[in-house]
Amino acid sequence: MARDTSPQCKQCRREGQKLFLKGERCLTDKCGVERRSYPPGEHGRGRQKQSEYRVQLREKQKARRYYGVLEKQFRNYYEKASRQSGITGENLLRMLECRFDNVLVRLGFAASRRQARQLILHGHWTVNGRRVNIPSYQLRDDDVIAIHARSTAAPLIRDATELTGQVPAWLQADHDGLTAKVLRKPERREIAAPVEEQLIVELYSK
Ligand code: SF4
Repeated sequence: MARDTSPQCKQCRREGQKLFLKGERCLTDKCGVERRSYPPGEHGRGRQKQSEYRVQLREKQKARRYYGVLEKQFRNYYEKASRQSGITGENLLRMLECRFDNVLVRLGFAASRRQARQLILHGHWTVNGRRVNIPSYQLRDDDVIAIHARSTAAPLIRDATELTGQVPAWLQADHDGLTAKVLRKPERREIAAPVEEQLIVELYSK
């Protein structure tokens, strides 16, 4: 499975904000953005030209990096979102939000999307009683998520739950039993991604 292996702190610095890609470290003063709040590279501290295209491109890259999705897959999400009824930008964010790896982070069962992907790929989670090892798996209403009976990752997952703030209202989590349920699809206001989706739609509509 193709994945983005570029250094995560550089990705945040490129976007000029914390994308919380590294779990606990992001909450410490070791955070790359806290230490060097300018873009990476030789010209990182130089003046950046701002154009409409550049703003839209950066917004798309930020969303991709936040959810850990590669370009081609991101474009596919957009194509699907534009074929659905409703607002394309919101449809896009909703699909990204309902990815299995993202949901594990929202539930507090993983400290980062990268860790969530690892746990899913190694078969530590089930959906509706069946092992699912696809990080991009789209969760639906009433899906029940649970740690696999033979998983040895429970201590790691419990550590992650301790970092969790509030679980969003569209999900229900049992941090003791390491199970959860998707109650419904999220509303736009419930999606905490730092993304202006309209800019992405404008970029792809050119
Ligand atoms: Fe981004 Fe986290 Fe690295 Fe800070 S520590 S730059 S939030 S990945």
